[in-house]
Amino acid sequence: MGRAFVYVILGGGVAAGYAALEFTKKGVSNGELCIISEEPVAPYERPALSKGFLLPEAPARLPAFHTCVGANEERLTPKWYKEHGIELILGTRVKSADVRRKTLLTAAGETISYKFLIIATGARALKLEEFGVSGSDAENVCYLRDLADATRLADVMQTSTGGNAVVIGGGYIGMEVAASLVINKINVSMVFPEPHCMGRLFTPKIASYYEDFYKSKGVNFVKGTVLSSFVFDPEGKVTGVNLKDGSNLPADLVVVGIGIRPNTSLFEGQLTLEKGGIKVNSLLQTSNSSVYAVGDVASFPVKIFGESRRLEHVDAARKSARHAVAAIMEPDTTPEFDYLPFFYSRVFSFSWQFYGDNLGEVIYFGDFSGTSFGAYWVHKGHLVGSFLEGGSKEEYEAIARVTRLKPAIDDLSELERQGLGFVVGL
Ligand code: FAD
Repeated sequence: MGRAFVYVILGGGVAAGYAALEFTKKGVSNGELCIISEEPVAPYERPALSKGFLLPEAPARLPAFHTCVGANEERLTPKWYKEHGIELILGTRVKSADVRRKTLLTAAGETISYKFLIIATGARALKLEEFGVSGSDAENVCYLRDLADATRLADVMQTSTGGNAVVIGGGYIGMEVAASLVINKINVSMVFPEPHCMGRLFTPKIASYYEDFYKSKGVNFVKGTVLSSFVFDPEGKVTGVNLKDGSNLPADLVVVGIGIRPNTSLFEGQLTLEKGGIKVNSLLQTSNSSVYAVGDVASFPVKIFGESRRLEHVDAARKSARHAVAAIMEPDTTPEFDYLPFFYSRVFSFSWQFYGDNLGEVIYFGDFSGTSFGAYWVHKGHLVGSFLEGGSKEEYEAIARVTRLKPAIDDLSELERQGLGFVVGL
């Protein structure tokens, strides 16, 4: 049993949706393109799962957040794919790939062949078992990577109102879920080993702004320690957590957000890997010229840093996907991918954006006791990164534009004096 396509997108997440839209813009014919996804639904904006999806009132539900609403583009519903002659092969896991033969084998035993393959398999949530803690399969222990996880979390949340939740991990999943739990009237403790939240991006000063607000909402931060085991009731439900520092916390619900691993396993030994992902060149092409990789799974050259990075952010997924399609369809005219890293988050009524790299000296600006403030990172005499909370559309555009220019900074105190005015003026 088998089918043949010119273009196959493996994975049906954010990158797949944006790639599909780009294929139609570049002129793909009926029946030439398919998307194979383990998930049972058409591509959707994954960031919604920790935000609108978890709201107690009028939560976001599909089809409202199919791609590509995140970029104010069309909403690609299953009907859209049908109308554009794109085959959606959903609920289907690819279990092996042969890049020499240009074939994929699905778990159902179907062989799908391609002329061009775009790998968009994203990443999976790291499990506690990988750190020697068992109990992840208990009914009230939740992870958050896909729609099934989010649906389960929303269900468990509903039965936990007024109870206690423990959030394991202080990254953006932990922070966004903690905010949602508070909004759902659940008492939250956050446990993480770092000295402050968002340890990979925030400075202590930025982190304490958000942590203070979370504390004012009743969130209890337990830092510098990790989960060592769960406490179960006779039915196997978790009732508490034991921490390595010897303390314990009661729990009606546990949410684990401790990082992700890119889904590279199908291609190990066949394609070159780098930084935990699939290595691609500046046209998103892997070590096999018929195979491209995009989104969370790809390690690509970030020109502005002069090195390759694997970025786990939605904007990189959207843009790398579009660029790969352009490179496949218009190989002679597509320039190198020149990406400025961008990351954002929204919790409670906060909203921040970050561009570039968080390297070097930090210069703060704005009002840290108010609602709008930010920071610049200056490395080797150049501005390399910018963070802004509570900015206007124009201000966010300005920090993005100026960060891309990497302007020389001779006088840090002058930059500090000018604050946001520095980018707005340039
Ligand atoms: P994914 O969207 O993960 O899609 C991968 C797809 O491949 C999935 O459908 C998966 O089922 C499928 N797949 C994998 N292996 C196989 C296989 N063998 N066979 C078939 N199908 C397979 N980023 C931000 O910048 N800002 C945010 O606020 C933000 N919030 C987020 C909130 C949540 C809850 C999560 C989970 C992520 C968030 N992100 C955010 C990150 C962002 O969603 C990812 O960077 C983005 O989804 C990556 O897109 P992708 O297409 O590479 O991978």
